[in-house]
Amino acid sequence: MAAATQAMLSVFEPATEEILAEVPEADAEAADAAIARAKAAFPAWRGVSPGDRARLLLRIADAIEGRHEELAQLEARNAGKPIAANARGEISTVVSTFRYYAGAPERLLGDTIPVAGGVDMTFREPLGVVGLIVPWNFPLAITCWKVAPALAAGNTIVLKPAELTPLTALELERIAVGAGLPEGVLNVVVGPGRVVGERMVGHPDVAKIAFTGSTEVGRRIGEMASRSIKRVTLELGGKSASLVFADADLEAAAAAAPLAVFDNAGQDCCARSRILVERSVVDRFLELLEPAVQGLRVGDPLDDETQMGPLITADQRDRVASYVDDESRVAIRGHAPDGPGFWYPPTVLAPVSNDERVAREEIFGPVAAVIPFEDEADAIRIANDTIYGLSGSIWTQNGARALRVARAIETGTLSINSNSSVRVTTPFGGFKQSGIGRELGPHALDHYTELKNVFMATT
Ligand code: NAD
Repeated sequence: MAAATQAMLSVFEPATEEILAEVPEADAEAADAAIARAKAAFPAWRGVSPGDRARLLLRIADAIEGRHEELAQLEARNAGKPIAANARGEISTVVSTFRYYAGAPERLLGDTIPVAGGVDMTFREPLGVVGLIVPWNFPLAITCWKVAPALAAGNTIVLKPAELTPLTALELERIAVGAGLPEGVLNVVVGPGRVVGERMVGHPDVAKIAFTGSTEVGRRIGEMASRSIKRVTLELGGKSASLVFADADLEAAAAAAPLAVFDNAGQDCCARSRILVERSVVDRFLELLEPAVQGLRVGDPLDDETQMGPLITADQRDRVASYVDDESRVAIRGHAPDGPGFWYPPTVLAPVSNDERVAREEIFGPVAAVIPFEDEADAIRIANDTIYGLSGSIWTQNGARALRVARAIETGTLSINSNSSVRVTTPFGGFKQSGIGRELGPHALDHYTELKNVFMATT
């Protein structure tokens, strides 16, 4: 009998529309095989001493650092990320993530709890095989937010990158094995979410799914996982608000606003795509915003000067364009190259009401809506009037107001007079339909371990 032909997946370069690579496409049987390898590798991996596991994570960090520029170039080409503005920084974050979680194996502390008749103690046990499902917008960074704490806690892994951007995850597997990670501990399978992803979610030997992606797919994964009470963490969509009060440093707020939404061409779950501005300063804010948007350098991701690249696919560009049908409300429009590539210019719509589709749905592209508000209570009401709760910003020079508003906004990650969202050392995740659980920081480890309580009688 002739061997079945291996199906191949074409991986594209969004700035050129050319094929960048062809990789073998996994099917459900390949997912089963990867899960079986991870299951077989688990007993030995959980038995590796904490110090040795820590040293291995440091070796992986060093090996990634040694290939930093090559990985940055690959990510820039495959995801259309500006090399200097984004891709190099993301690979540096990957290195930091492994170094940070290298501190974890020796610090997975338990408690002793006073009880009668003996000693009570808790342990943080690894879960077993964990299934990691990753989107295309920050391919290797989001992969490693999951891989590093999962390994640190003693789990083995089946990892499914997005079909559009699997190249750096495949490199990671090779790099990790080269650095000494035992075969079978990290298994990358590239295939369709509906086939490979669902097989992972439904498989009885997978203890947990850590998913980052759309709220729609997250909901489906949550439903499927509930059938076997499988652990899940979900990092989902967002429609984050930046609140600009009249007492803010408007120059600073306007200068920072473009990259808070147009960074990664708006394909960022933390994009501040709703810019809420106190009505009395809307005109002034738009005046200041205009040159900042017009000045954004959109173009070749491999050019060090580029600040914004293309969208990931033609479909994504068409979807984004569908939100901008009324030209009269385009308050500001930046530039984008002509010719091949999935380009869309940075676009600001104003004024927008929070009831409109552009203000309610995650656009995942370079389109921002400026929404006027009347006062502090109105700003909080509008900011919270969304199914999402991932990020947000507050711009004001009144410190008491900043903290009051920060406590009132239903969102997982907020910044005051800044638009930063993610740090390796601090927890990241969503309220409401933006997700369940936290990644990064010390808290991620809670989601890769199960708490065990042991009582030992001493009488
Ligand atoms: P997506 O949900 O379409 O896909 C994400 C991953 O899930 C991919 O690997 C895909 O193959 C897989 N998948 C698809 N259907 C599946 C199924 N039925 N079962 C199992 N797996 C399945 O998302 P995307 O388009 O790749 O990414 C964009 C979305 O990700 C946006 O909504 C964005 O907000 C979100 N996101 C969230 C965060 C966060 O941390 N909260 C970070 C980045 C992106």
